[in-house]
Amino acid sequence: KYDVVALGELLIDFTMNGESGQGNPLFEANPGGAPCNVLAMLQKLGKRTAFIGKVGNDMFGKMLEERAGSTGIDLKGLKKDDEVHTTLAFVQTFADGDRDFSFYRNPGADMMLKAEEIAEEMIREAEVFHFGTLSMTDPIVEKATKKAIETAKESGCILSFDPNLRPPLWSSLDKAKEMIAYGMSVCDILKISDNEIEFMTGKKDIDEGIKEIRDRFGIPLIFATLGKDGSRAYYQDIQAQAAGFVNPDTIETTGAGDTFCACELNYVLEHGLEGLTKENLEELLTFANAAASIITTRKGALCVMPEKEEILSFIKKRKA
Ligand code: ATP
Repeated sequence: KYDVVALGELLIDFTMNGESGQGNPLFEANPGGAPCNVLAMLQKLGKRTAFIGKVGNDMFGKMLEERAGSTGIDLKGLKKDDEVHTTLAFVQTFADGDRDFSFYRNPGADMMLKAEEIAEEMIREAEVFHFGTLSMTDPIVEKATKKAIETAKESGCILSFDPNLRPPLWSSLDKAKEMIAYGMSVCDILKISDNEIEFMTGKKDIDEGIKEIRDRFGIPLIFATLGKDGSRAYYQDIQAQAAGFVNPDTIETTGAGDTFCACELNYVLEHGLEGLTKENLEELLTFANAAASIITTRKGALCVMPEKEEILSFIKKRKA
């Protein structure tokens, strides 16, 4: 039995790391992909997790299998493609820690996961099924994702969705909107960032944008993340918020949203999705913001997730 099973992309993020003696940029090959980042943080919090996805049968695929496996994530559902290479992404980081992505995925192995390759029995054993939209950008993997979602629904899983919009990966932004709307129509828990709220609703005001999403889709629990400004939660008629932990040591924000997402799922696993109070939600947001702030001080995310004790002592220090 798993606490969380996630499906999606597992890839290499090449992160800029200084210059060579000749003045050429140097890149560090960091394991990346939102779903495994979420699972890696959940593993640190003592949860049992499993991943479903595909890498190439190449040096990067093997490296990803080894690195993701070292976090304790069950990789029985990870397929290897002999024909197509592991997806690569090059990440440019700006002074404020924000990022721009260039994907080398034409195609990439993560897009080639087929519906018949989905380990349905793993999903049936999960309490939570988590997904994003990188696994809905192309028809083959879109079909696989939809099949996994149907299996999760049938077997009574809690469905968790983080759109993780990456505009360059879509054939059109209308298609991105359509698939994000599909994810919203099936999920029980949504984590969405400020720019994704604006993309979906045209609203810059977070609360107004969330109201429109709730009116349209009726999602029980929604989290809005606002970068360094923190996060908000919306549950029944309760709204809660917590300020971000701005960190002098921030170097890049890769995986901040995924770390946040793991903490939110961990809280729901421990407290349930029923009867959450404002105090519960504030406690959840504070913990998730702290964990996410810590990850912004590290390169990459998958193999450097913080321990629970570290997060709690970070909060204690900041509140002192
Ligand atoms: P990603 O695309 O990296 O998964 P996201 O866009 O989903 O991220 P963000 O809103 O950027 O999510 O960040 C998620 C959480 O991480 C925020 O709610 C906040 O708690 C924390 N965070 C993000 N950026 C910073 C920062 N510069 N300093 C401190 N905390 C941050």
